[in-house]
Amino acid sequence: MFKVKINRERCKSCGLCVAFCPRNLLILDTALNKRGVHPSKYEGPPERCIGCCGCALMCPDAAIEIEEIPDEETVVEVPVEVEGKKK
Ligand code: SF4
Ligand code: SF4
Repeated sequence: MFKVKINRERCKSCGLCVAFCPRNLLILDTALNKRGVHPSKYEGPPERCIGCCGCALMCPDAAIEIEEIPDEETVVEVPVEVEGKKK
């Protein structure tokens, strides 16, 4: 799963990310940010994002970051070596 992190205060409301998202998951918020514009906002179930990073790459102000959150089932616990013994 992917988490779309938008820096609302950095956003200048150009709408490029909104237009680009292939899943139509981004909108411009009705609220204003400190710059006095309507910032981009993720709208939709978290699992709809495919993590394509298109929105982040399109943003001229680097206001978007995509973080991958591993599914619990796919996390593999690796044994840690402690003083020569496996814990
Ligand atoms: S990473 Fe891709 S699918 Fe997810 S919100 Fe951005 S453009 Fe849309
Ligand atoms: S591309 Fe960046 S600056 Fe433009 S609306 Fe999206 S987050 Fe805001």
